[in-house]
Amino acid sequence: ARQFTRPLNDLANQFNTLLSAIAGAERVFHILDEQTEMDQNESSLSTLNEAKGEVVFDHVSFSYKDGDEQQTLDKISFQASPGETIALVGPTGAGKTTVINLITRFYDANAGTILIDGININEINRDELRKQMAFVLQDTFLFNGTIIENIRYGRLEATDAEVIEAAKLANADSFIEKLPNQYHAKISDDGNGISHGQKQLLAIARAMLANPKILILDEATSSIDTITELKIQEALSRLMEGRTTFVIAHRLNTIQTADQILVLKDGQIIEKGTHGELIDMKGFYHEMQYRQSDEVV
Ligand code: ADP
Repeated sequence: ARQFTRPLNDLANQFNTLLSAIAGAERVFHILDEQTEMDQNESSLSTLNEAKGEVVFDHVSFSYKDGDEQQTLDKISFQASPGETIALVGPTGAGKTTVINLITRFYDANAGTILIDGININEINRDELRKQMAFVLQDTFLFNGTIIENIRYGRLEATDAEVIEAAKLANADSFIEKLPNQYHAKISDDGNGISHGQKQLLAIARAMLANPKILILDEATSSIDTITELKIQEALSRLMEGRTTFVIAHRLNTIQTADQILVLKDGQIIEKGTHGELIDMKGFYHEMQYRQSDEVV
């Protein structure tokens, strides 16, 4: 099966890996905003305190460079109702990551409108916007510190009890309990001694703790043992409950249960619907399904 070569890598590279994998990382986004200095004309007009998580793209176009003949995103429109799961699928380079880059305001659209709960996101302060979002990406950012500190990064003011509760919901508790010093076990920034799958569970715990209305997932393509994989799947479905979730999907089961699948190709949404609808359409999605047995790109 075809593998993703650079899922969300641009996002990660641009703002360094540190930024991308963090749930509700206010501290880092502060730094980011200082660096980019793009917020100057922005008021905290809307605080989105009671965000519901509706996300609307209305003819959104975007290019990374001015004067590109072909837009990276070309008049993208869709509507995600609160709590829905939206799967982004399509070949590498189709624009999936770019859609995420716009929702998170790592970049701003050149044309069209993006609304969250009916508010134009250009009018939403970046910090406020990102407080409504958590990320579970392929590479989880861990820093030198204890497990509890690493999970608390999702919401810095959380109590120990809240952190542990989040870890339990994320199915991370059982592996943590087996570590020497449990929640106070030290981990290094290279995640020494922690498997890739366990890192994902920590990322899910962070996101649980952050408790945002919008969730951004980039499903792992690397191999994770079956038991951990099941734990991840179960924890993710718990996490996704009641949140609007955008997932760059590689797994058929995620895609099959998505409320909407947006099939991107060359910066355009060429097909849109549920798995069943898209299969019946017998178009590009249908073809992708039959080209690949257990994995969809
Ligand atoms: P996907 O996630 O579907 O693989 P991307 O959204 O990452 O696709 O990329 C869409 C297009 O935009 C590709 O042609 C890619 O090379 C280009 N692109 C992505 N990120 C950047 C960037 N930071 N600067 C310039 N071009 C980019």
